Amino acid sequence: MSISVYNTLSRQKEEFKTIEPKKVKMYVCGPTTYDHSHIGHMRTFAFFDVVRRWLEYRGYDVTMLINITDIDDKTIRRANEEGVSFAEIADRYMFDFIKALQSYNIRLPNIMPKATSVIADMYYVIQTLIDKGYAYVAEDGVYFDVAKFEDYGKLSGQKREFLLTGVRIEPSPYKRNAGDFALWKRRKEGEPFWHAPWMDGRPGWHIECSTMIWKYLGDQIDIHGGGTDLIFPHHENEIAQSEAFTGKKPFVRYWMHVGMLKINGEKMSKSLGNFIRWFEALEMAPAAAWRFYYATNAYRQPMNITEEGIKQAHETVKRVYRAEQALRYAIEDNELGDNDFDPRPYLERFGERMDDDFDTPGAVAAMMDFINAFQGKIYKLSPESARTTLETLRKMMYILGLPETGVDGRTKAAIDELVALRGEMRQEKRYNVADRIRERLTEVGIELHDGKNGTRWFVVP
Ligand SMILES: [Zn+2]
Repeated sequence: MSISVYNTLSRQKEEFKTIEPKKVKMYVCGPTTYDHSHIGHMRTFAFFDVVRRWLEYRGYDVTMLINITDIDDKTIRRANEEGVSFAEIADRYMFDFIKALQSYNIRLPNIMPKATSVIADMYYVIQTLIDKGYAYVAEDGVYFDVAKFEDYGKLSGQKREFLLTGVRIEPSPYKRNAGDFALWKRRKEGEPFWHAPWMDGRPGWHIECSTMIWKYLGDQIDIHGGGTDLIFPHHENEIAQSEAFTGKKPFVRYWMHVGMLKINGEKMSKSLGNFIRWFEALEMAPAAAWRFYYATNAYRQPMNITEEGIKQAHETVKRVYRAEQALRYAIEDNELGDNDFDPRPYLERFGERMDDDFDTPGAVAAMMDFINAFQGKIYKLSPESARTTLETLRKMMYILGLPETGVDGRTKAAIDELVALRGEMRQEKRYNVADRIRERLTEVGIELHDGKNGTRWFVVP
């Protein structure tokens, strides 16, 4: 039993071997906190949440870091527009990001540093790069010299020669090569700045990730993740900085990238007006439906979001929750049979799919086949089979990040009361009131099922 991971660097699946036994150091590029995250971001973080859960399930001790890009052209622009400090903008959207993660049942990382919290460490990294001859101080900033780094382009497959002459990534007349990128940018009027050894200014974007990884996770890490849009230039530049700085390679063992989102076949963009922010998506369908929808799509592929797609995911995920609660009721009622049912082959298949480069669509299919296999015969299961079946289903739901739908004691009491009231109304043949209670509860995700043990209510997302 071994895990295989598709590595963007080698362009193939590789056996997963960690630097330290049973320990995983994992870094995922976080948001630039100048606006709300959208459902494309949520797809990426939801996926790496599943990766983390699966690795933990396989016995790894995972340390996960997501950074917060709090200083950037965009945070500064927004701050100036609103007449507040960049820190206020950055904090507002950092808190919003945390709320988004929690709303989608994405576990918070172990460490979530802001770029501005590692400025002093950046000085050290940048100065070392200058001392080693990989970086140079120019009129408008400090630049990384891509011509000095032999391996430049190895992740993205970009030809270094082309970059040296061709594309202009960040235009500046002071650069040696067109592909050189800023580690530090000279102070501009109306911008926040720090008193760096070379000049007052602020950090470039790429340097924060290299610095944080080195500071909090070490010279080398196991997994580095992000969206495919970050492969070039961002991750290419991270490799150049980090490997030049530490002299060790590879800086990252497995580069993992999540595909981009489309909405009805079109690229999601603010200008097209098809931009869906995280909380707008939750008005369309609950988090459980989104997590399920994401999981039914192969992570490396682009994903096309449609209204029909999310609706269908919502309907299907309800079945998972119904099955889980039906098992629970059957066990509680202690009205079971003596049929043996072995959930292990399904869990094994689920695991094989997850081990194969986190094939979540395959894992979801295994889970649905599992549910189909026991669903019609829950009350015939032996107590032991019912118990292990429930445990297995809960494991799968946990790994896929499907949130629990537990209700607190007060809510439970209120629902019980309404259900009892409906029963009384039915006895009095006041069916219109009884039906109204049932309909209203269904609308808020409480489904009533009448059976031989009376009426049971199910919480569905
Ligand atoms: Zn990054």
